[in-house]
Amino acid sequence: MLKKFFTGLILLCILHSEAQTQDAKPDSYRMKSFIDALMKKMTLEEKLGQLNLPGAGDITTGQAGSSDIAKKIKEGKVGGLFNIKGVEKIRDVQKVAVENSRLKIPLLFGMDVIHGYQTTFPIPLGLSCTWDMQAVERSARIAAIEASADGICWTFSPMVDIARDPRWGRIAEGAGEDAYLGSQIAKAMVKGYQGSDLSKNNTIMACVKHFALYGAAEAGRDYNTTDMSRVRMYNEYFPPYKAALDAGAGSVMSSFNEIDGVPAAANKWLMTDVLRKQWGFNGFVVTDYTAINEMIDHGLGDLQTVSARALMAGNDMDMVGEGFLTTLTKSLKEARPDDPVGRGKVTQQQIDLACRRILEAKYKLGLFDDPYRYTDIKRSQTEIFTDANRKVAREIASQSFVLLKNQNNILPLKKSGTIALIGPLADNKENMPGTWAVATDYSKPISVLAGLKEVAGNNVNFLTARGSNLDEDSLFEDRAGMFGKSLRRDKRPAADILQEAVNIANQSDVIVAALGESAEMSGESSSRSNIEIPQVQKNLLQALLKTGKPVVLVLFTGRPLALKWENENVPAILNVWFAGTEAGTAIADVLFGDVNPSGKLTTTFPQNVGQVPIYYNHKNTGRPLPEGKWFQKFRSNYLDVSNDPLYPFGYGLSYTTFNYSDIKVSSKSLKGNQTLTASVTITNTGNRNGKEVVQLYIRDVAGSITRPVKELKGFQKIELKAGELKTVTFNITPNDLKFYNYDLKYDWEPGEFQIMIGSNSRDVKSATVNWIK
Ligand code: BGC
Repeated sequence: MLKKFFTGLILLCILHSEAQTQDAKPDSYRMKSFIDALMKKMTLEEKLGQLNLPGAGDITTGQAGSSDIAKKIKEGKVGGLFNIKGVEKIRDVQKVAVENSRLKIPLLFGMDVIHGYQTTFPIPLGLSCTWDMQAVERSARIAAIEASADGICWTFSPMVDIARDPRWGRIAEGAGEDAYLGSQIAKAMVKGYQGSDLSKNNTIMACVKHFALYGAAEAGRDYNTTDMSRVRMYNEYFPPYKAALDAGAGSVMSSFNEIDGVPAAANKWLMTDVLRKQWGFNGFVVTDYTAINEMIDHGLGDLQTVSARALMAGNDMDMVGEGFLTTLTKSLKEARPDDPVGRGKVTQQQIDLACRRILEAKYKLGLFDDPYRYTDIKRSQTEIFTDANRKVAREIASQSFVLLKNQNNILPLKKSGTIALIGPLADNKENMPGTWAVATDYSKPISVLAGLKEVAGNNVNFLTARGSNLDEDSLFEDRAGMFGKSLRRDKRPAADILQEAVNIANQSDVIVAALGESAEMSGESSSRSNIEIPQVQKNLLQALLKTGKPVVLVLFTGRPLALKWENENVPAILNVWFAGTEAGTAIADVLFGDVNPSGKLTTTFPQNVGQVPIYYNHKNTGRPLPEGKWFQKFRSNYLDVSNDPLYPFGYGLSYTTFNYSDIKVSSKSLKGNQTLTASVTITNTGNRNGKEVVQLYIRDVAGSITRPVKELKGFQKIELKAGELKTVTFNITPNDLKFYNYDLKYDWEPGEFQIMIGSNSRDVKSATVNWIK
């Protein structure tokens, strides 16, 4: 019925406005006509309703129609809801909107589908370490299929904030420190979520967040101030947002932080000049959670003022705070163009524009055609957490692990003998998925113990002990388990817990220590000033090492940690991040060598927290340290630690070894738009098949502004059989040399370029070329 109603309306409008829009594309022409007609019927209140995104509250299945939120929906005061889970519930709520509100406009249903839906993939930082764009896209595709089968049509992902500060807990949610890699991943995620047709019932709309610079919070403290030069923004922080939009992302989320003294949500330069005018974005912008209201605390004025500023800056939808809903009518009435704080500048035109953009999103998702498009109960029963999806998740998880150390080839383990599995994370399901796993069923993840038992076969004897709590301080533990993903504190004295573990360890052939952070020690509002493994766990590790048995550290973390002591003392370290529902089996696959690890770091691991921020693509300074030295007076360095990272960006070992030949370049001097080819031959010199991520870096030796010491410009993930060799070639064009100069003009400058290829950002072969215009 609804469809007929809208179809009739469309036809009428098509006839009416044909003359004006003759040259528009058929789809956008139809969409415009449809929305024009709909908006003509809308009151100001109904338009503001579309801009309103409340949280779902506690709607229970079958009670949707009588919930508090239903009342608002009926009054046309809601544009969408988020984090409501369950297809039946969503269907019920949609029914309220399309049957009981005056204009029957369907709702958007959003969710933080961040790294999978019920089939949960590694946290985004882990996923990025696969350097495998097909895998990244696949994970997003599966997330979209499962989410859309359960009623969701919009995800608050990808999070593409560049992060160079491991103190910031949300570093876990992004793709690391590099703009180039971050851009490739952003594209792959958007493609995975949105597919080629947003209106299909198994694709969902992406929301690129948090625009912008949220990852540069001062001191790594969440929500803190950011401040940086425009040159840095454009070259180092903006590219992944732009890449996601170029890939067609339908929506953007503005960030909490300020930029140039104006919070992103009120920053017109950012939200309109950059986003709309420079980048041509024509989707809609949603604020972050109560970000408008928070501008009162930022110090921009009262709710009416900040709501007006947020709208006029270019935000279209207000998440949770209801500032738009409750103040914009008043602001519009009071509009005075000379109002210094901006309140009076609210215009009907801007409200209409915001409303239109949200209706367009609904149109593109096909919701006007069929508001129940994403609520097919049958799909929800057959397409979620399937064996096939879990198989992919397991494979991808195993590709995300980074082997940080493997002295004397302790790994892989034999599938025989006695293994002591020890540590607070050894037998815990709930922490396996990591931060932001809203749709995970926490009874489903596979613990390390369960995974090892499944993969080991019958010849391994397992002994287990807890060994320690997460942290000695129970209050810290409470803070790091606030949403219930606790490690269940063992109330015995630390010495007793430890002794039990040592006794067990003494009976084993090899010790696997599952230690590190809990899932909630990273993620939102989980900043840390100490980025080491908690001391009580280090004590455990020390005691285990004293047994003289070989020790493998299976490290859980949502951020780079400072692991200097561990690196010096523990023979093998496998960083497994938080790998999702299939964590346990994926970890076992790698520990037992069924899968050869190939993950490479996408963030630099510092030696200590004092080095932070430390990232590979830094500037040289006027007083760089001469190569081979770690201290020299009057050079840029520290008295107490070298400038080197513990593990550089791009680093990760394999159970085999790879040898790189010198670089061959097609020419040493180039001109204009020529293409340079640079190649290396890589040989698998070990005795196992393995994958290697071959990385291309370029240094622009002299420029009109200072340039990084190297920048990632390409990578190829290859597979080599034992003994096999392959030549990997990169084609380099002037496009790869471009950057934003002082005037923010995007171009390349002639001169000398150092071309580097290697297995991480530190260990590279290099050649120099000269390139003139
Ligand atoms: C986070 C966003 C998230 C939103 C909705 C906010 O607190 O910053 O990343 O999408 O909540 O859950």
